[in-house]
Amino acid sequence: MYAHRIDSLQTAMTAAGVDAVLLSVGLDMPYFTGYEAMPLERITMLVVTPSGVPTLVVPELEVPRVNPDPAFEIVGWAENEDALAIISNQIDEARLVAIGHQCWSGFLLDLQWRLPETFWQSATPLTRPMRMRKTSNEVSALRATAASADRVAVRLARQVFAGRTEADLAVWIEAALREEGNDALSFPAIVASGPNAASPHHHGGSRVMQPGDTIVCDFGGRMNGYCSDTTRTFVVGEPSVKISKAHAVLLEAQQAAVAAARPGVTAESVDRAARNIIGAAGYGEYFIHRTGHGIGLDVHEHPYIVEGNDLILEPGMAFSIEPGIYLPGEFGMRIEDIVVVTAGGVENLNLSPRHLVSV
Ligand code: ZN
Ligand code: ZN
Repeated sequence: MYAHRIDSLQTAMTAAGVDAVLLSVGLDMPYFTGYEAMPLERITMLVVTPSGVPTLVVPELEVPRVNPDPAFEIVGWAENEDALAIISNQIDEARLVAIGHQCWSGFLLDLQWRLPETFWQSATPLTRPMRMRKTSNEVSALRATAASADRVAVRLARQVFAGRTEADLAVWIEAALREEGNDALSFPAIVASGPNAASPHHHGGSRVMQPGDTIVCDFGGRMNGYCSDTTRTFVVGEPSVKISKAHAVLLEAQQAAVAAARPGVTAESVDRAARNIIGAAGYGEYFIHRTGHGIGLDVHEHPYIVEGNDLILEPGMAFSIEPGIYLPGEFGMRIEDIVVVTAGGVENLNLSPRHLVSV
């Protein structure tokens, strides 16, 4: 699998006239090697040239964590060695080098100083087209972790919210994600209650949930490297008429965007499908973020479902559809599913109930 991916990368490099690709911290490296670099001051770098076997330059003490694969050669560097010299020596003939966009700037600055004649660009245009189109194995991995998140959502709906703090419920969600088979979190669980729910990425704190609150719960895990990400909105006790009406609009918008997503349409058209309904109901100015983001090894990756993105959707692309309505000082709500584009539409990976559940 890794040999096949590296082969595709080398073909793309040749077509683009790129002499070397350098990948460090971030999820491009595990996509091509299965190994995720620790974000350390000790550099780890995959060095790919248009032909031949790439080298994974890695701190010697991290070598035991790398699963060897014939697709790449492992070069461990000792504490007293100059790792950046090892890397720069491999590419000293390269005129154009593409580097992963999450590589620390300190390493890049050092390499630029050592290789003053080299031109530098981002590796993303080379890696994005590959990572955006998921294989059936990748879709299976996304499906498995999405199902685990759905099981957490179902269990969550049976929890008592009133009288509990946001932080306490967030800890419960995170533990449940691990119980349901995830080996890590894709991000710290978001639990946002009452007026806090009007802040889309609110960090759950000491606020005690109380009757009439909407509670936005947004969470996901990582299983075999792939991420899940789902949001459901709950209400403590009976919702106000205003909350019920807004949630009905939101659900209609979310479902319209899911229905709009299919091969051949643009990413921005999916955003518009949700935004038009929320706007027509008078909540347009309270839908303050894009409709979705791609998902895979990274919880946020291409394609972004946003106005201005005219990318044509293709089978295998996986992304969230997560419109929200946020009324400052009052309440917030969001519904989020992950979908994968199929030949005729999308497969929705998140199937837990989407209606406003009273807890
Ligand atoms: Zn989310
Ligand atoms: Zn999301």
